[in-house]
Amino acid sequence: MKSLTLKAPAKINYRLDVIGRRSDGYHDLRMVMQRVNLCDEISITLTDEPDITVTCGKNGVPDGPGNIAWKAARELLALAESKLGAIIHITKNIPVAAGLGGGSSDAATVLMGMNELLGLGLSDQRLMEIGVKLGADVPFFIFKKTALAEGIGEHLKAMPDMPAVWVLLVNPGVHVSTAWVYKNLQLTNRGELAKLPYFYGSIESICSILSNDLESVTIPAFPVIADIKNTMLRLGAAGAMMSGSGPTVFGLFRDKYSAEKAREALVDGTGWFAATVQTL
Ligand code: ATP
Repeated sequence: MKSLTLKAPAKINYRLDVIGRRSDGYHDLRMVMQRVNLCDEISITLTDEPDITVTCGKNGVPDGPGNIAWKAARELLALAESKLGAIIHITKNIPVAAGLGGGSSDAATVLMGMNELLGLGLSDQRLMEIGVKLGADVPFFIFKKTALAEGIGEHLKAMPDMPAVWVLLVNPGVHVSTAWVYKNLQLTNRGELAKLPYFYGSIESICSILSNDLESVTIPAFPVIADIKNTMLRLGAAGAMMSGSGPTVFGLFRDKYSAEKAREALVDGTGWFAATVQTL
């Protein structure tokens, strides 16, 4: 039977402005998101049996219908009115519930993979419309460019080119629920949103836009996040911030060596997750 193995990359948020609460429970956001080369690996095999099987074997990631990748596969099989099924295996390299968008990326990758395997020929635009019903960050991973994301995350515009940087990801493993973060967020009338530059010629220009409104909830509850940021800056990062609703912190470095040195100094002996990656 036809099969495919694909990489599903993680993302970081250079910026996350919360603009307001909507009546449907979501929040209107303005985000700048970029993909990094820390990837889950997803294998998809079409089968003659109509069932969908999803396995992952990682704590905290449901197998079967609870997995967002399962829902993505079902959407496309239903749309194709296909009698086939799929066996999907996810090798999880992206930390779970970490602010790195791992589940959304898995779902986006399954939508793109099933589109190809089933020969549906759906446009990225159509896949993004299907994806947003599965999760607000799913369309971004189908868009495949550094993006300004507005609305709940589904209105995407390509950002100007940015210089490649080395990114140190550190996740201290504290449990942060995205729902809890948004519930506890104090929305203040912020007036005009800061204008974002049109040109990003240096790592400093990327650092000039770093901001994440969700840190105001997560950092008081988990001061370790601020400690990691401060240590990264002390160890040579040009900028450091929490990604998404956390708890992963990313530091931006000019070269791999300084990122690796900071990684050793920060995480050796802690048991924390860390990875030195590049932007995509
Ligand atoms: P975001 O940055 O979009 O808020 P996240 O990186 O914080 O996402 P995920 O790793 O996507 O969070 O996981 C959120 C929850 O979704 C987990 O608690 C997990 O139980 C559930 N989940 C379902 N399918 C998956 C999947 N394929 N990978 C990871 N988590 C999944």
